Amino acid sequence: MVPFNVAPFVGDEFTYIKQAIEANKISGDGRFTKLCNKILEDRFNAQKVMLTTSGTSALDMAALLCGLKQGDEVILPSFTFSSTATAIVLCGAVPVFVDIRPDTMNIDEKKIEHAITDKTKAIFVVHYGGVACEMDTIMQIAEKHGLFVVEDAAQAVMSTYKGRALGTIGNFGCYSFHETKNYSMGEGGAILINNEKYNEPAEILREKGTNRSKFFRGQVDKYTWVDFGDSFLPSDINAAYLYAQLMHADEINENRLETYNLYLDAFKPLADKGRIELQHIPEECVHNAHIFYLKLKDLDDRTKFIEYMKDSAIYAAFHYVPLHSSPAGQKFGRFDGEDEFTTKESERLVRLPLYYNMIKEKRDLVIDCALRYFMA
Ligand SMILES: *Cc1c(COP(=O)(O)O)cnc(C)c1O
Repeated sequence: MVPFNVAPFVGDEFTYIKQAIEANKISGDGRFTKLCNKILEDRFNAQKVMLTTSGTSALDMAALLCGLKQGDEVILPSFTFSSTATAIVLCGAVPVFVDIRPDTMNIDEKKIEHAITDKTKAIFVVHYGGVACEMDTIMQIAEKHGLFVVEDAAQAVMSTYKGRALGTIGNFGCYSFHETKNYSMGEGGAILINNEKYNEPAEILREKGTNRSKFFRGQVDKYTWVDFGDSFLPSDINAAYLYAQLMHADEINENRLETYNLYLDAFKPLADKGRIELQHIPEECVHNAHIFYLKLKDLDDRTKFIEYMKDSAIYAAFHYVPLHSSPAGQKFGRFDGEDEFTTKESERLVRLPLYYNMIKEKRDLVIDCALRYFMA
């Protein structure tokens, strides 16, 4: 049996979780949360990082910090997880979906300007599979029209664009540390803030609308309710799990890349022959081996492939049902322009099992079985 995913585990998690419990600090913003924030800030050269309860709540925070409100419009790809859009809807704004590029499955930067109206307030980009969107072009468009840029970098921890960490290029970046992501804390995430003027509003929003962070720094002598807020602080127990992972960040990354490259070697000949297509990595991008996918001929070919793998107890997976064709997408949003690639390309895509510490025997099983499918 080869599962689609196994949550990353390096071994030190128990030690740190025990320390969090023994320190009598299992609520938010304890020692491990602070350590994780610092590691992420230093490693990615980020102005400010705050752990959150999920990637979704990081996106919610970003949408709220952009000041989105009823009637505003936000541009995003339709090929993404619901969280990217639901953050926009939380604020009463309208998601405006734009087509993707078939080579990276990221928003097509050339189709963004067509979707801009006088109601547009922000662009939410998604770095699919840890491969960057064309950020220079997107930032130029945003600047020209005075728009916020939020990077849904849920899948892109450790990836870069022209040497810059993903999540640090737009106004806000959002990471996920869900168990299906490269680094995990069970459920969790982080918001990256690139302009310090948002640090204090973010602290207040994250801490139930209070100025408690200021109080702990000794900047006010008592704390109180100062604005709208929610609770976006993860438990320090979860942060302790993440801390162990971040201490082994390179090892996890290299291990995933090794599996990715093994798959690449195995499937490249089929791509050269035109039987399948593989993920394109633009020259400016360094990726983190979050996903290895194949694009088959069509939906029928993909269905057969998934069934064939499943017969050998190998679990390949597809996603996403494009948001503009989902019930909520139709209720809350609209698609701008033509759906040239979003539906067609999403129906062809299948992801192979890829997780930290995937043993050779399992990787070989996946490769052998898949190659047999294409030989039949
Ligand atoms: C995983 C993911 C999210 C949500 O992250 P959670 O931590 O599960 O809330 C958002 N966007 C994308 C693109 C994701 O892959």
